[in-house]
Amino acid sequence: MTRDPKHDILFEPVRIGPKTLRNRFYQVPHCTGFGAEKPGSQARFRGMKAEGGWAAVNTEEALISSDTDYWPVVSTRVWDEDDLRNLSLMCDEAHKHGSLAGIELTHGGVHADGRESRRPSLGPSQLASDYHPFVVPKAMEPGDIRRVREDWVRAAKLSRDAGFDIVYVYGGHSYLPLQFLSPFYNKRTDAYGGSLENRARFWIETLEAVRAAVGDDCAIAVRFCVEALGPAGVELDEGTGFVVLADHLVDLWDVNVGSITDWSKDSGASRFFPEGYQLEWTGRVREVTAKPIVGVGRLTNPDRMAEIVRSGAWDLIGAARPSISDPFLPKKIEEGRYGEIRECIGCNVCIMKAEWGNHIGCTQNATAGEEYRRGWHPEKFEPAANADNDVLVVGAGPAGMECAIVLGKRGFRRVHLVDAAPEIGGVMRWIPRLPGLGEWARFLNWRAVQLEKLKNVEVILGTELTAKDIRSYGAEIVVVATGARWATDGLNAYTHAPIPGADASLAHILTPEQIMLEGKAVPGKRVVVYDAEGYFTAAGLAEKLVGEGHDVELATCLERVAPVTDETLEGPMLRQHLHDVGVRQRPGFLAAEIGEGFIRGTDEFGEPVEVEADAIVLATQRLSNESLYLELAQDLDALRGEGIDALYRIGDCVAPRIVAEASFDGHRLAREIDSDDPATPLPYMRERIVLESAAIGS
Ligand code: ADP
Ligand code: SF4
Repeated sequence: MTRDPKHDILFEPVRIGPKTLRNRFYQVPHCTGFGAEKPGSQARFRGMKAEGGWAAVNTEEALISSDTDYWPVVSTRVWDEDDLRNLSLMCDEAHKHGSLAGIELTHGGVHADGRESRRPSLGPSQLASDYHPFVVPKAMEPGDIRRVREDWVRAAKLSRDAGFDIVYVYGGHSYLPLQFLSPFYNKRTDAYGGSLENRARFWIETLEAVRAAVGDDCAIAVRFCVEALGPAGVELDEGTGFVVLADHLVDLWDVNVGSITDWSKDSGASRFFPEGYQLEWTGRVREVTAKPIVGVGRLTNPDRMAEIVRSGAWDLIGAARPSISDPFLPKKIEEGRYGEIRECIGCNVCIMKAEWGNHIGCTQNATAGEEYRRGWHPEKFEPAANADNDVLVVGAGPAGMECAIVLGKRGFRRVHLVDAAPEIGGVMRWIPRLPGLGEWARFLNWRAVQLEKLKNVEVILGTELTAKDIRSYGAEIVVVATGARWATDGLNAYTHAPIPGADASLAHILTPEQIMLEGKAVPGKRVVVYDAEGYFTAAGLAEKLVGEGHDVELATCLERVAPVTDETLEGPMLRQHLHDVGVRQRPGFLAAEIGEGFIRGTDEFGEPVEVEADAIVLATQRLSNESLYLELAQDLDALRGEGIDALYRIGDCVAPRIVAEASFDGHRLAREIDSDDPATPLPYMRERIVLESAAIGS
């Protein structure tokens, strides 16, 4: 395979101040949940991307002192030498592979609520945080301004000494420097408020001080949202106005859009934002600077990347999510292995896991976040000690597909992936057909290509296996990946019981699979979609049905519609979108009974509510399809007598979970299938302080 010459431009080196990037692929700062607290995970996670060809890898936000503290959200910290000692491991990993390491030095200003440090937040003016409205900052005095500048310089020097090549004076996402720049936060009447020059003063003075301290040794980068797409920051004219004022102090402009409250517009989900969408704004920065520019926009298409560079808009192709879903994206382009690229699907589960779980993970890349603690490499697979066995994987959903691929790569003699359906994919056969989720089909596409290539993996479709079939199949290892189904009787988290009258064998009561896979007709005009789960399924069905001409109400017992999508940054836009397309939303409704023509229950205050409906769609909870597994597991000795040495189950068949976890489960079993007890995950490396009893003193 050779690279298309039109992509050669992506492999040109780029100079930034005193440093040189070996190509134009740049991993912009992004959260992981690792910080300086999980230094092994941090180092290996970034190091993997360096190995995969990214010319620079950056930390997440690195808070410059205890003046700015976001705990329990894990940013990284550069409060003292020990933090930097931990982070220097990441520099070593980057350098080992010829990449630069960058650190995104940050002060969160008003948004840092000091939960651990118990210090007040700071802001240019005493205005409550729009991100955490209960946080009111101290308006900074001249002494505070001086101290923050000194902290920035101290953090920059420590970073340089730890081995970082790129030092940021990060403005955010509406953090302190941008708060000074923005009239929304800055109402000062002194030399730091008023005109653009005055509002830029804090940032420029900080840049001058940092540059004077480390500018000969490190490239100085500024990252900020040049267009807030809302009130919390600056509009493009002031964004580019700042670039003009500070250009002489900056070696690399790292530009994006949004703010911390409108982060959903920067880390845009594919539901709302197409690849490359930020160019509309960040592409304009070139008009005011000749310095290198890096931008983002979930880019995975090399043609598009080359076009952008050739147009002059950006010099570097920035990526957070595309580098998570495929750390080897640059190498694959470099070597012309285009079909191998594991393209980001824009689901933002990485954000859900990094921000709310404090440990990143990815739907597309089961190895993301597991590089250190489990020692997994996304492109390398050890031959299995028991590879001279045949494996039958029953069910070709996310878990089964991933498991079969990894077993294939580990060299098993024969792997049969069998599914009752006419196509592979399981739940991914229909999820990408929900409105807005088309890009999720990439999950399936990458796996289809892999399965096609693996000569030891055979995919057999349209074949529903019984326990008897499996016993006589001839495989020594059987993996059951039969997935889950939506409850047909309204079973739900809130009553732990079916809803009286709910029965999806009736014409007017439907489950998601009946609509999406079985083609069951939705009768009548008025439809209520009842959601007790809170992720994308009910919302997607409501939008689909309104698009088909039904009059749709989305009722949920949750406090708001689709609250889980808040964790993927989709929530507020999704609720607005549902409203705009005509879906009525009824949060706080607990269903008690369904009948012909109605659904009855109570509102959030316990008052009775009845809604008329010709059809009710139930998205209440899922249940594992475990009967096949349980039947086989009943008598393991008998199975052994029939030549089956091992029986496992994976994915939703164990417990219904998001696609990322089902896929991870399949990957995990295949990676550990030759361990002593493959059904039980091997312990992973935990990163924590262990104190001797004497260490806490008396
Ligand atoms: P997961 O997310 O755990 O991979 P899915 O529900 O997405 O689970 O996929 C399960 C797959 O298993 C579906 O494609 C379904 O058709 C298939 N399946 C379920 N039972 C059988 C069976 N007895 N024989 C073959 N395939 C089955
Ligand atoms: Fe992309 Fe989803 Fe992976 Fe995040 S979790 S990198 S959005 S595929």
